[in-house]
Amino acid sequence: MNPEKPQLTIGWLYPTLMSTYGDRGNVICLQQRAQWRGIEVAVIPLDQTASTAAFENIDLLVGGGAQDRQQEIVMRDLRGAKAEAIRHQIAGGTPGVFTCGAPQLLGHYYEPALGQRIEGLGLFDFVSKHPGPDARRCIGNVVFQLTASRLAADLTKTLGQPPIIIGFENHGGRTYLGEVEALGKVIKGYGNNGEDGMEGAFYGNAIATYSHGPILPKNPFLADWLIQTALTQKYQQSITLSPLDDTLAMQARTAMFKRLGFDGK
Ligand code: GLN
Repeated sequence: MNPEKPQLTIGWLYPTLMSTYGDRGNVICLQQRAQWRGIEVAVIPLDQTASTAAFENIDLLVGGGAQDRQQEIVMRDLRGAKAEAIRHQIAGGTPGVFTCGAPQLLGHYYEPALGQRIEGLGLFDFVSKHPGPDARRCIGNVVFQLTASRLAADLTKTLGQPPIIIGFENHGGRTYLGEVEALGKVIKGYGNNGEDGMEGAFYGNAIATYSHGPILPKNPFLADWLIQTALTQKYQQSITLSPLDDTLAMQARTAMFKRLGFDGK
C-alpha cells in the first residue's frame, strides 16, 4: 500500500434499504472531502448482492436510517459470515458512522413498533425499543456536546473548543446504553431516549448516533476525523489532512444555531 497515492474504500450498508432519511449525504460528504485531497475513493454497496469478501475489505463504514420493515429485511441478510465480517471490522477499529436504524441493528436487539424483536449484532452494548405505533416519535433538530473521550479530545485539539454537533432526529425507537460510552450529552432534542440526556454511542472508532442532517456535511470536522482515522489505520502511519475551505458549512451552522436560540458556535 502506498500512502503517496492514498485510496479509501467506503462500505455503504444496504444503500437501497437503509437510505430513507437522507443519510447518503454522509457518503457523498466523505467521498468528496477525500477526493478534494487527492485521495482515491471507491464506494462499495454492502447488501444482499455483495460477497463476504466485499464486507471484509473496507476502510470506512457508513450505515443510514431505515424504517422498521426495511430493518427486518436487512437483519435477515446480515447473518453468518457477513455479520462476522462487520463485527471483526468494527472491533478491529475500522471507523464508521451509523445513524438511527443502523445502530439499532448493531446493538443487542431492536424491538420494532409492531412485530417480533430483531436480534442485532451485539457490537454496541445497548438495546433499542420502540414503545409502539401510538408513541410520539422523537423528531426535530438536535444539538449535543460530543463527550466520547478519545473522539472529543481529538476534535477539541482540532477545533480549539469542545465539539458541538448539530443534526436532525426522527425516530420512534428509544436506545438504552449498557457499558458502552455515550457519544454525547444532549443540549437540545431527545437523543437516545428523551430521558437520560445521552446521545449515541462510541465504540472502537465507530460512531452511533440518532442524528441525521445528514450529520457529516453539517459537522465536517467529524467527516475529516473519520477519513483521517481510516487512512491512519490502513497505512499504519499518522496522516494529516490538508485543510479545506469550510466557510459555507460554518455559515450554515451559525444560521442554524441562531435559529435554535444559541448565539452561534
Ligand atoms: N425505524 C427506526 C425508528 O423509528 C429508525 C428510524 C430511522 O432510522 N430514522 O426508531
